[in-house]
Amino acid sequence: MNVVELAAKLIQCPSVTPNEAGALKIIKELFKNTDFEIYDIDKGDISNLFLRWGVKDLPTLGFSGHIDVVPAGELGEWEYEPFSGRVSDNILHGRGAVDMKSAVAAFCSAAIKFSKNSEPDFSIALMITGDEEGEAKYGTKAILDWMQKNDQRIDHCIIGEPTCPKTFGEAIKIGRKGSMTCTFTVFGKQGHSAYPHLAINPINATLILLNHLSQEKLDSGSKSFEPSTLVATSISANNSTNNVIPSEVNTTINIRFNDYHTSNKLIKWLGKVAAKVSKKTKTKIDYNIKVSGEHFYTEPTDLAQLVRKSVFKITGIKPAFSTSGGTSDARFIYKKCPVVEFGLVGETMHAINESVPTSQIFALEKIYLDLIEEHAHYFKEKSCMRPRST
Ligand SMILES: [Zn+2]
Repeated sequence: MNVVELAAKLIQCPSVTPNEAGALKIIKELFKNTDFEIYDIDKGDISNLFLRWGVKDLPTLGFSGHIDVVPAGELGEWEYEPFSGRVSDNILHGRGAVDMKSAVAAFCSAAIKFSKNSEPDFSIALMITGDEEGEAKYGTKAILDWMQKNDQRIDHCIIGEPTCPKTFGEAIKIGRKGSMTCTFTVFGKQGHSAYPHLAINPINATLILLNHLSQEKLDSGSKSFEPSTLVATSISANNSTNNVIPSEVNTTINIRFNDYHTSNKLIKWLGKVAAKVSKKTKTKIDYNIKVSGEHFYTEPTDLAQLVRKSVFKITGIKPAFSTSGGTSDARFIYKKCPVVEFGLVGETMHAINESVPTSQIFALEKIYLDLIEEHAHYFKEKSCMRPRST
């Protein structure tokens, strides 16, 4: 089975989070007659896999990926059935083709190819989760907890998320902004719209609140990141009448923050602004905050340079180091070791008719294989890089 056939087989499993739908079973089957150790890491309703080639004390190159996908959406709008994994005109179609079953297939296939022709004087670890697109509560986090408990470590990690905006090979992600969402509920006093002086209008207060928040410049960008952003994503009074001032309004904002901020500092700031507006408008303001993740950043040194070298070798393109885009599992892994992301062109991810040219998948497998080979040399040169004390 070549890498595209493997990717197609994975796409045929409708593994919408939290269902693995047989995808992990296919991977386990694939590794059955190899020298990889296979560990199931199940937590809550999520199944994850950890695989290792070579003993765990050796310096380790890690790959991380997810086999869960977002729902297909409107089935009728798809050119080919979303879980068909159909290849037509050298294009692989289906949910997960880009994000990111093809990349999982590519690193699994590259790792097996390398392991069959080499003796392990370093180690390869594969972390495959079923919970990246969902809450990410029992996915990579659970794998990392298990690794900690079982003294399983990695020294470098590559995540196969799609990283290229338009052309394959053009970007490696070395960081991503943090993300948090805050829903404010502004309570006023209901009343007749003809007698507004008798009521307290929570819509007016909400507008003042959003004004305060959106006028504050969070920063002007940092050395490694674009400026942080604060965006209002919903405002709702749930009011179908035209002559009643509603009693409450819900409004949601989403903040994408760079390395100037932490979620804790931003939570304090949001609380202060809410208190100020509440006092000024005589409303009561509650808020509920969900932090999706802090920012991650890996200095563009050894690992990022190795990835750049391999990408250039295979594609002829010198990729840029990027810190754009939403959160990924790098937000968990970067606390353990340097992590960068490199994968396919992301144009159709999460979209109807998600698809990718098979040439990209073959090239990605070659890049991952080259990275494994480069790491064999790298780890040899840095043979003292793993003090056993931590
Ligand atoms: Zn993804």
